[in-house]
Amino acid sequence: MKDHTQDLKSYITDVPDFPKKGIIFKDITSLLESPEGVSLCLESLLSELKNKQIDKVVAIEARGFFFGMLLAQSLNVPFVPVRKPGKLPRKVITQSFDLEYGSDVLELHEDAIQSGDKILIHDDVFATGGTAEAVCKMVESLGGQIVQCNFIMKLDFLEGSKKIGAYPVFAAMRY
Ligand code: AMP
Repeated sequence: MKDHTQDLKSYITDVPDFPKKGIIFKDITSLLESPEGVSLCLESLLSELKNKQIDKVVAIEARGFFFGMLLAQSLNVPFVPVRKPGKLPRKVITQSFDLEYGSDVLELHEDAIQSGDKILIHDDVFATGGTAEAVCKMVESLGGQIVQCNFIMKLDFLEGSKKIGAYPVFAAMRY
């Protein structure tokens, strides 16, 4: 498959000093505004899943939902949302973790994953890896098997891979 990394990067907008001074925020709304860009990104993510069995896509609120849902629908498997506290109505499991800028808590419906389910975890940006690590822990605590963690982009300089080194990671773009 042709390497579309450079084409894809043209759809991302760098916003300096957001939400805090010193952070270069990778804005994906400019990608979402382009049907061609969205197709290119989805195609890239799907290309790394060929011949892999995925039973469910677990995606992280909120920016993980855009491509998480597209991936689940393309793979014809259930979409499972990981949400901020107090949003999911049924019994949940909870995980707290540190972020590049602050800390947070995430929740997952306890009955959304069954033991042995083969799971794809998706989020928009892989930065310090704290968010993905927290979701990996929740998925595994319910007996899920993580096949891959994929992202629209990975910020290599933050070395997040050290946190989830045990799992295959793919990103459509790397910085
Ligand atoms: P982390 O836990 O550090 O890997 O952070 C991942 C989460 O924070 C993702 O859900 C992103 O949406 C968000 N995030 C972290 N750093 C950035 C950044 N530089 N630009 C855009 N989003 C970011």
